Amino acid sequence: MGDCLFCQIDKGEIPAEKVYDGEEVYAIKDVNPQAPTHLLLIPKKHLSSLMDMEVTDERLFGAILNVGKHLAKKMNLESSGFRIVLNTGSGAGQSVFHVHFHLLAGRPMKWPPG
Ligand code: 5GP
Ligand code: ZN
Repeated sequence: MGDCLFCQIDKGEIPAEKVYDGEEVYAIKDVNPQAPTHLLLIPKKHLSSLMDMEVTDERLFGAILNVGKHLAKKMNLESSGFRIVLNTGSGAGQSVFHVHFHLLAGRPMKWPPG
């Protein structure tokens, strides 16, 4: 999508700190981090939100989580723990309408989330 922020970042039209760039998924540092580690795990395919997901996207969503796992392992987050979040809809805090997961770590995480 031409005017979509995460499609534009993928194409290099808008700069971002990429920490992973694969065939189907990329990951960047969040520009407004909510924890010492705050990454965004993003599929290259444009889907506005989880609500656009179809059965044929099941493997892609698995691949996104697998990237999260590998990045967490690389950053030694396994023992301290980390949280992966998918906001869906503006009422739940979604502000960029290209589906993405947040990977947060480096501080105590509260439950239930606010
Ligand atoms: P959402 O609110 O949709 O769940 O998450 C969108 C995230 O994208 C927010 O955490 C926000 O800080 C981040 N974000 C918004 N614009 C940019 C940007 O231009 N670059 C990067 N790296 N992150 C962004
Ligand atoms: Zn997009």
